[in-house]
Amino acid sequence: MAVPARRTSKTVKRKRRTHFKLQVPGMVECPNCGEMKLSHRVCKECGTYKGKDVVNN
Ligand SMILES: [Zn+2]
Repeated sequence: MAVPARRTSKTVKRKRRTHFKLQVPGMVECPNCGEMKLSHRVCKECGTYKGKDVVNN
């Protein structure tokens, strides 16, 4: 079994981990109310999709 030639240094490990970010992907701002929503989904704040009211309430 292959074994790493040398231990990954603290600096290299930390540089790699700078790309690990805490974030929810695909969040966009609703064009109707400005709330953050998942793209390609109905806005749960104002119930619109593509500028049209699609939730009946
Ligand atoms: Zn909205």
